[in-house]
Amino acid sequence: MIRRIDLRSAATGRASGEPFDYRTAVPRADFDVEAAVPAVHAICEGVRTGGLEAVLDYCERFDGVRPDDIRVPAGAAQAALDDLDPAIRAGLEESIRRLRLTCEAELETDAVTDLGPGARVTHRKVPMNRVGLYVPGGIAPLVSSVLMNVVPAQVAGVRSIALASPPQKEFGGSVHPTILAACALLGVDEVYTVGGAQAIAMFAYGTGPCARVDFVTGPGNIYTVTAKRLLKGLVGIDSEAGPTEIGILADDTADAAYVAADLVSQAEHDPLASAVLVTPSERLADEVELELDKQVFATRHVERVRTALTGVQSAVVLVDDLEQGLAVVDAHAAEHLEIQTEDAAGWAARVTNAGAIFVGPHAPVSLGDYCAGSNHVLPTGGCACHSSGLSVRAFTRSVHVVDYSRDALAEVADHVVTLAEAEDLPGHGAAVRVRFDR
Ligand code: NAD
Repeated sequence: MIRRIDLRSAATGRASGEPFDYRTAVPRADFDVEAAVPAVHAICEGVRTGGLEAVLDYCERFDGVRPDDIRVPAGAAQAALDDLDPAIRAGLEESIRRLRLTCEAELETDAVTDLGPGARVTHRKVPMNRVGLYVPGGIAPLVSSVLMNVVPAQVAGVRSIALASPPQKEFGGSVHPTILAACALLGVDEVYTVGGAQAIAMFAYGTGPCARVDFVTGPGNIYTVTAKRLLKGLVGIDSEAGPTEIGILADDTADAAYVAADLVSQAEHDPLASAVLVTPSERLADEVELELDKQVFATRHVERVRTALTGVQSAVVLVDDLEQGLAVVDAHAAEHLEIQTEDAAGWAARVTNAGAIFVGPHAPVSLGDYCAGSNHVLPTGGCACHSSGLSVRAFTRSVHVVDYSRDALAEVADHVVTLAEAEDLPGHGAAVRVRFDR
């Protein structure tokens, strides 16, 4: 079912501790953004030049339905909330409550530095003015992504929030009702029934009824992620959050049934999802493989899960010891990393590259997908070594506010003039001198 990669020194002929590039040892899914660029560039250009009609054409072409209007009518979200199963509503409310608590704790205050009498620099935190939040809906209606996008934006203080999700044929070309209900629960009333690259382009250019946004966030498939990469600069983006990934670092103390269930749970997202177990325990590896055989066939989306687990991006990786395992998972930089070892917290503290880390046997990634209080919009494809998951900070900019009195400027005026001369920019020095010449 899942392939094995043996990185133990006996198998690789390398001495333990010898440097090795583990980034290439654990391959990733064939998620080739460069290859998608021509098609996605054409869609973005289509939206830029063709506007609303082009967006509607792409809905028809890629989602099989042409919505009457891309803006979901007022009242539709509230109607969906009124019809929502109370158990789903309770789950959403608890998830929102926990997420709000962590987001509020993330809020940063302005940093004020007094550099002398009358000389003050404030590092002021300013929320984005208008954002476009993307909620996937091609494979499954990811209602949880509504919360993960909206809650940090609201806590950050964003004034204007627009949200887009693919049109659903079975719901007459509107957004999935559970997604609409979650929007109503959060008070988001600007919702567009547009998916993929055309949704990101609509946000970036401002199309039809959708005014241009400053910042786009949210996960998605290759078309969505490629559009974010292409339009970055015109708009800000969070990370490139593509097909999901789970890495698990586990030792002999791990429960094979838990490990297998967690691998299956992420494989369920997408045939391109990646599931990687890294362990020094051959016994655990054997047991997990037996568990996978049992669990995969009992799960609802067997084909999707099997495709993901048998893809090049998924593997059981054998290592000499947890020290080598740590080097492997750190180099792999998975979106989600579970640590199921003795002293899990100790090993987790040493991980530097992961979108989010789940510690011990009772913190499965599914908890983080819905209800942990953490965010599930996380960098994939190895981007966790330079990007962060979605948070309040993503929706906030920092602005230096410089406030100097005449006397405070006088204190440093000579330095400014000297440094300006050194750069052969005498006008800079003159702009200071003029304030003292009169
Ligand atoms: P999606 O909503 O981004 O994509 C659906 C859209 O793709 C459609 O609306 C359609 O417009 C477009 N599309 C489909 N075929 C196309 C084609 N041939 N050409 C151009 N456009 C086309 O996403 P999805 O398909 O539902 O997948 C969601 C993805 O998001 C999964 O891979 C899941 O693992 C991932 N995800 C990632 C995170 C994260 O934080 N990294 C979180 C949740 C979900």
